[in-house]
Amino acid sequence: MRSIAHIQLQYAHRFYNFKGEAQYLHGHTGHLTIEVEDSINCGVNMVFPCNEIQKTAWEILQNFDHALILREDDPILPVILDVYEKQGIRHGAHTNTMKGPAFHTELATAHPECRLVVTKETMTVEGMIKIVHSLLKDKLNIVKLTFTSGVNAASCCFTPEAKVERCPLCGIALNKEGVCPKCGYRKK
Ligand SMILES: [Zn+2]
Ligand SMILES: [Zn+2]
Repeated sequence: MRSIAHIQLQYAHRFYNFKGEAQYLHGHTGHLTIEVEDSINCGVNMVFPCNEIQKTAWEILQNFDHALILREDDPILPVILDVYEKQGIRHGAHTNTMKGPAFHTELATAHPECRLVVTKETMTVEGMIKIVHSLLKDKLNIVKLTFTSGVNAASCCFTPEAKVERCPLCGIALNKEGVCPKCGYRKK
């Protein structure tokens, strides 16, 4: 069976060199749906608590929220960084607290200190699905991701790559030592 969680991300981007309106900077509220599949965990009669899926995903994906997402070869990128630098916010601001851990993958690099994500490919809904999968596949048994933004939507099915052992008392993932970080249950 599947557990299904939703996340909203508000971001600005543009499609560099695209022959359409999207070549201009603009913003979206993106809706991400994460479908996680596993057996029913008998102890709690669920696959996985959806708020825990949200929490796990948000830890990393908050770097995309209220962020600017630009392709690495976009000439607007150094200009923005220069403005941030001159304004003294390039390396952070005390009001910028919604930061996940900085990540660097083949597809995307997060700069949480200035709410910027630099991508290898244009950040379409399809591109976002590739990025999200690469960031979360080791943490969640993802079988499907759907991302919508305005009239654009894409979805993709995956073979789960994670093996998540779950607590029979509260349903969340056990840590490496086989202990539940929430309720303290210890695997026998
Ligand atoms: Zn757009
Ligand atoms: Zn537990």
